[in-house]
Amino acid sequence: MLNIVLFGPPGAGKGTQSEKLIAKYGFTHLSTGDIFRYNTKNKTELGQLAQSYMDKGELVPDEVTIAMLESEVEKSNTSKGFIFDGFPRTIPQAEALDKFLAGRGQSIAVMTALEVPEPELIKRLLLRGADSGRADDTDESIIKNRIQVYNDQTAVVANYYSAQNKFRAINGIGSIDEIFDRLCAVIDAVEETK
Ligand code: ADP
Repeated sequence: MLNIVLFGPPGAGKGTQSEKLIAKYGFTHLSTGDIFRYNTKNKTELGQLAQSYMDKGELVPDEVTIAMLESEVEKSNTSKGFIFDGFPRTIPQAEALDKFLAGRGQSIAVMTALEVPEPELIKRLLLRGADSGRADDTDESIIKNRIQVYNDQTAVVANYYSAQNKFRAINGIGSIDEIFDRLCAVIDAVEETK
């Protein structure tokens, strides 16, 4: 059982790489963005609350996000481990995750971060918006706000895992397969030391 945090700014390719990692390793994927979108689409109470933040490119408050994530972990029966995608995005979320997993006799094995320069992120997100119609991907000012929020609140989470010697940066530029190979190399190395 291996729990992984897939980290990186909006548009870095976390969703695409998660799909490939699930296919190869059998991980259970938990994407907080996907869960929030599912809830907004189905107009649940959580969804309505989350939408007001997502529409502006702001983070959903920690208490709400942490409670949701914990209940999703509790619901899942995973034998291979989780890929956390889009979580933790703040230091309190990272601390809560560590505490929660420790209570279950588990931990995060590694955080892999996809590094992509900002102009490329904006280009990719606008392309995705044109394709998917995702509201927060069609407006450049909202995209820029999300990147700003990432730089201000989320980037520091890398230091949190770095202090535990669990942070591995990966070049997020290249073909999907090239980036996937880089990720697999990190995961396989961690698996070997287990
Ligand atoms: P991206 O990484 O492309 O911005 P996500 O699908 O991960 O997209 O997230 C979309 C939105 O969902 C975020 O802009 C934010 O409003 C909300 N969200 C997702 N994960 C979190 C989180 N861990 N904490 C707070 N808000 C979150």
